Amino acid sequence: MFVPHVYLPSGSSEVVGRWIVIDPKQNVLLVDGDFPVGVQPPLAVVGRHLLGLEEGEPVWAAAADGDASVGDAEGQWVNLRALYGAIPETDWVLAGRAAQVLVWDRDHQFCGRCGASTKSHPVDRARTCQACSLMAFPRISPAVIMLVERETDSGPEVLLAWGRKFPGRFFSALAGFVEPGESLEECVVREVFEETAIVVNNVAYHGSQPWPFPHSLMVGFNASYVSGEISVQEEEIVEAGWFSPGELPTVPRGGMSIAGWLLEDWLRRVA
Ligand SMILES: [Zn+2]
Repeated sequence: MFVPHVYLPSGSSEVVGRWIVIDPKQNVLLVDGDFPVGVQPPLAVVGRHLLGLEEGEPVWAAAADGDASVGDAEGQWVNLRALYGAIPETDWVLAGRAAQVLVWDRDHQFCGRCGASTKSHPVDRARTCQACSLMAFPRISPAVIMLVERETDSGPEVLLAWGRKFPGRFFSALAGFVEPGESLEECVVREVFEETAIVVNNVAYHGSQPWPFPHSLMVGFNASYVSGEISVQEEEIVEAGWFSPGELPTVPRGGMSIAGWLLEDWLRRVA
């Protein structure tokens, strides 16, 4: 079992651990298909952070400098997205945790309020400004992702959209970032309306997933259609439509993202 820690318990400084080494482009170093193991990192790193202990052994995140992936380390660099399925899922989640901690550390070397340099907090996962004491914790940006369902005379349908960020014709559940002052449920209603002009209710929590690209937390919901005709927000959406279980376009099915889990769950329920 993995137990998060910020610092090693005293007396355990020279123990063998696993090293999740990530370069600035989110490539992760594997040696023989696994995270490298050792007392020290497998190559020169520019920062190291304890993530926690797994069966009593430390798991480290370490930042490779920009040239590491073409450098001299033995092993193979695999992008964090492509890593899904290549290693156990629990390890993929740890790699995502490592990526988020490293991005936070890289981006908070200086205070966002006064510009002075920051230093590691002695107890917490935080950086503290040496001039004004402002603390910077790892940033987590919550986003909602929702599957909107309706019942028609010919059977159940879901609302799916092809987002502009996908290069090919690939549909998924609608999603969007939570705004300050907004509840998750309000965000679901607002985002669905902004992106498709559809009104929904019965917003119900489904589950959540850390999404380290670069530091989101995806919060999944189901919602019910109330009214409206689809009219897409063209800056974000190429195309959106209602789809029945037998006529789904190219969509995520299961796999690494909560979008796929939401769809699998719907297909199970309406089958
Ligand atoms: Zn400051």
